Amino acid sequence: MAGKKDYVNSAVSRNREQIELHVKEILKLVGEDVEREGLLETPARVTRMYEEIFSGYEVDPREVLGVTFDEQHEELVIVKDIVYYSQCEHHMAPFFGKAHIGYIPSGKIAGLSKLARLVDAVTRRLQVQERITSQIADIMDEVLQPHGVMVVVEGEHMCMCARGVKKPGSTTVTSAVRGEFRSNSTLRSEFLSLLKT
Ligand code: ZN
Repeated sequence: MAGKKDYVNSAVSRNREQIELHVKEILKLVGEDVEREGLLETPARVTRMYEEIFSGYEVDPREVLGVTFDEQHEELVIVKDIVYYSQCEHHMAPFFGKAHIGYIPSGKIAGLSKLARLVDAVTRRLQVQERITSQIADIMDEVLQPHGVMVVVEGEHMCMCARGVKKPGSTTVTSAVRGEFRSNSTLRSEFLSLLKT
């Protein structure tokens, strides 16, 4: 979860009035009566929701990892089931699910909770699942310079459930590998089998 401080001075906060106005216009344009009771607060509510779900823009994902040093541990570290909530950039519809990150440190390690912060920073903006997956892998690779990193992201996409092909319940799985995970299939299998436990 992004902290309140992440979006105090966000673009959404600065443009709150304008966004509320435009949401109200869209409601009118789809044929709604914007004066009926259930909709009176909707533009303000949507804008507050945007503050949170677009708070990733205010965070530099490279800075949230909080690197520390540990020369000893050079074995696989996995943080799995990191829940995320994002917005598909093609439809502005939600998609959400879990991210799993595995890496083999080479001197630098990241606080385990910081990996969740990284996922928040990358997902709380308009995104596609494929890019979320590769960005997490690239940032881990760049900041921690590990022997290897593997990221698996699972997502359920509302734009696939509610419109177009209409396939509720289907899950999209994406993965990205860097370093030793690329060349070592045993390592990839170990990571995947640990996700199932
Ligand atoms: Zn979509």
